[in-house]
Amino acid sequence: MKKDCNDCGAEINVPGDSMVGEIVTCPDCGANFEIIEKSELKIEVKPAESIGEDWGQ
Ligand SMILES: [Zn+2]
Repeated sequence: MKKDCNDCGAEINVPGDSMVGEIVTCPDCGANFEIIEKSELKIEVKPAESIGEDWGQ
């Protein structure tokens, strides 16, 4: 399953057995995204710039 990177538009390959809450990394820019929704038809992610609880920005 593929998802476009929110930052650079590259394709991020999301393993079919990945689960909500997992972090995927863009191979192009290295941005981290957390899977927030997943179904057979679509996948939604949100930026996860740092793994943790620091949401200073
Ligand atoms: Zn990217």
